[in-house]
Amino acid sequence: MNKITNHMPTAELQALDAAHHMHPFSENAALAKKGVRIMKSAKGVWLTDTEGHKIIDGMAGLWCVNIGYGRKELATVAARQMEELAYYNTFFQTSHVPAIALAAKLAEVAPKGMGHVFFAGSGSEANDTNIRMVRRYWDIKGQPEKRIIIARKNGYHGSTMGGGSLGGMSGIHKHGGMIAGIVHIGQPDWWSEGGDHTPEAFGLARAQELEAMILQLGVENVAAFIGEPIQGAGGVIVPPSTYWPEIQRICDRYGILLIADEVITGFGRTGNWFGSQTFGIKPHIMTIAKGLSSGYQPIGGSIVCDEVAEVLGSHGDFNHGYTYSGHPVAAAVALENLRIIEEEGIIEHVRTVAHPYLKERWDALTEHPMVGEAKLVGLMGSIALTPDKARRAAFASETGTVGYRCRERCFANNLIMRHVGDRMIISPPLVITPEEIDILIDRAKTSLDECYAGLKRDGLFVARA
Ligand SMILES: *Cc1c(COP(=O)(O)O)cnc(C)c1O
Repeated sequence: MNKITNHMPTAELQALDAAHHMHPFSENAALAKKGVRIMKSAKGVWLTDTEGHKIIDGMAGLWCVNIGYGRKELATVAARQMEELAYYNTFFQTSHVPAIALAAKLAEVAPKGMGHVFFAGSGSEANDTNIRMVRRYWDIKGQPEKRIIIARKNGYHGSTMGGGSLGGMSGIHKHGGMIAGIVHIGQPDWWSEGGDHTPEAFGLARAQELEAMILQLGVENVAAFIGEPIQGAGGVIVPPSTYWPEIQRICDRYGILLIADEVITGFGRTGNWFGSQTFGIKPHIMTIAKGLSSGYQPIGGSIVCDEVAEVLGSHGDFNHGYTYSGHPVAAAVALENLRIIEEEGIIEHVRTVAHPYLKERWDALTEHPMVGEAKLVGLMGSIALTPDKARRAAFASETGTVGYRCRERCFANNLIMRHVGDRMIISPPLVITPEEIDILIDRAKTSLDECYAGLKRDGLFVARA
């Protein structure tokens, strides 16, 4: 082995990766055999790997690089902040300029009445904060039995023990179990679970599962409901129009707290600052991370409504916090990211340029023989792959087999598009241009064609009985 440096040949890097690096959500033995693809640099919506391939990033990293890669302003701010004050905490009656400025800026862009921020290092951590926060809130209000949080099957809220338990993914629950006091209701996924209902009737029915669950558990035991305005990791599941108004009605009626997990849907992704605005949701708490810093620094947090913040702040210490809550470098970078989003009109760009342009092309993908529905809100989209559109049928093969094959074709065609089961999903940087959208769609079509031909060849274009 040569000396370990940053400039080694790909094969050597792959061997070192296989030997020493444990990958999240991956089967490391299989990955080691195959060899990872190693990214080297990036600019705008384009990644370059160690072999020099230019890859269009249809996922903005992990849904986070909203302003695109390679913005020097953020690097400059980070360097300056590291020199001035690399670290200080906010625990013991101290604060610092970046945390103060970022909290104030978030209060300005958040919906009215949500003027408070508790910082964390990630979305998972922020959701762990939320669990403790809503339970403590009810303690102080003299209702300590209100502890249960209702969440959704196939929701995603991170992968710490708290976040993973809020999430409704059985694969995560199986690895390490769940924390107590969290229950799950059905998801508003009409395409795969809606049966003969109209989307509207199904959306209503799934929302009413919340009411049934509250009544079953007893409202005196329920602290909060948590949901993503649009499920991201669950497959970009856009709820029917009836869903969120009914969830809101139920939360209001029973007086339980509503947590909107905006980790993906925040910061312009849906064409507004927050997905809650797009769907008319009035949350008490919003989870934020990802696009908060466009992924340039790890940072997350909870934006908290005035009432909850006041109750929480009025009865002694809130015994919770992270060493890196409001980290000055991360906060300074996030603030610069928000400045760019605002001053460059990036949310306007999503709403008036990128979304309408992509929408027409994305919807047209349903002309492809194996694309059933196409969904796109802002710049968050999905297509359902199916062998029989009329029946909304699943493939006979194990769920995810076809999606994985399609993703492999995308990868080979230098397009990053993820699969969740047999849905293909995109969430590109918000700065993507119409020319780049054309390239993304061209590569997606080529990949779908190749995948389709492969399924036919291998006898896999078959519906489940
Ligand atoms: C990614 C994600 C999280 C977890 O954020 P991390 O920063 O990975 O901990 C939580 N909620 C949603 C909706 C997410 O998409």
